[in-house]
Amino acid sequence: MDPRYHEFLAGELAQIRQQGLWKEEWPILGAQGPRIRVKDRAQPVLNFCANNYLGLSSDPELMAAAHRSLDEWGYGLSSVRFICGTQGLHLELERKVAAFLGMQDAILFAACFDANGGVFEPLLGPDDAILTDRLNHASIIDGVRLCKAKRHVYDNANMHDLEAKLREAAGARFRLIVTDGVFSMDGTIAPLADICELADRHKAMVLVDDSHATGFMGRTGRGTPEHCGVHGRIDILTTTFGKALGGASGGCIAARQDVVDLLRQRSRPYLFSNTLPPVVAGATLRALALLSTTTALRDRLESNTRTFRERMTAAGFEIKPGVHPIVPIMFTRFAPDDAPLAQRFARALLDEGIYVKGFFFPVVPKGLSRIRVQISAAHESAQIDAAVAAFTKVGRALGVLG
Ligand SMILES: *Cc1c(COP(=O)(O)O)cnc(C)c1O
Repeated sequence: MDPRYHEFLAGELAQIRQQGLWKEEWPILGAQGPRIRVKDRAQPVLNFCANNYLGLSSDPELMAAAHRSLDEWGYGLSSVRFICGTQGLHLELERKVAAFLGMQDAILFAACFDANGGVFEPLLGPDDAILTDRLNHASIIDGVRLCKAKRHVYDNANMHDLEAKLREAAGARFRLIVTDGVFSMDGTIAPLADICELADRHKAMVLVDDSHATGFMGRTGRGTPEHCGVHGRIDILTTTFGKALGGASGGCIAARQDVVDLLRQRSRPYLFSNTLPPVVAGATLRALALLSTTTALRDRLESNTRTFRERMTAAGFEIKPGVHPIVPIMFTRFAPDDAPLAQRFARALLDEGIYVKGFFFPVVPKGLSRIRVQISAAHESAQIDAAVAAFTKVGRALGVLG
């Protein structure tokens, strides 16, 4: 290899470290769950940073369904869907996930990243406009880039700015508003009622990526459209099976029949990438069946979240208000020293047996460093108690609490 290229890589890598952006992977020594063992620590730690919202990642029933699917349908398909990669299982999952989300049909992808990568380009062209929230997920940003429609970025959840951008794009043939249902750094929910209102007024369409909501937000877990009272008014939903629905992998786009029909013909990650493995399809079907018969898990998640939010506020912490199980603990009072503080805080919590992640500039803006806690239905009350106690102890030791 060209020796200059090695030098170039060394420079890039050094720069990532200098900017404090180096991501260290910390192996966990066993299955995902609320209590895990991690590398270099003798004692298990309580896990408060997984997307395992409903505790289904290592759920015995889901694992049994995965085993049955493996036995019945095999391990891999070695094909894309339209050659010889469609099993009855995939069609059933598409039907069931569409019904769960209140849509006519759904189309499966290996991941929601692929769903977002493959949703815009087939549906819109150079005469169209996409209005996209500034804080949307990286996969939406990439998917929009692959599409020839004109892009208008509006400020996070800012309806004045969205309306201004809708006016700016008034000459477009079709306009599509695109938003995350939940913004994952803040745990805040997109104002979908207002967005649908604006969409109606301006004859625009709405796409919501509900990856951090499917299965638990809303009274029956249908996601942010249900939570916001606009179930049935969203034109296109994308979501993941890699978070609340078992957490393995896979994603989908759910929409009207004609939208899904066109995507099956033209969406490139669907046409040119391998079929979702039957193990994942079978376990996801089991998750949907479970969530369609009982709201017990999402109810428990809601109550765990409320308890944690109330007790952290009572303890004197500054948390971003809201109802989502993503709970950011903020250090704004300590700016400009908030970034080292968040790092020290997360390390000290690990010493107390609580595993959480700190986020600071440039991942979030300066002065908005935080520890992002994620609550699960699988957390027992004693584990929530332990987390609040550890936060309080570390908060006193580091001068965050009086
Ligand atoms: C996690 C996430 C994705 C990616 O989902 P995968 O199935 O893991 O690829 C896409 N969009 C949003 C909003 C997410 O939170």
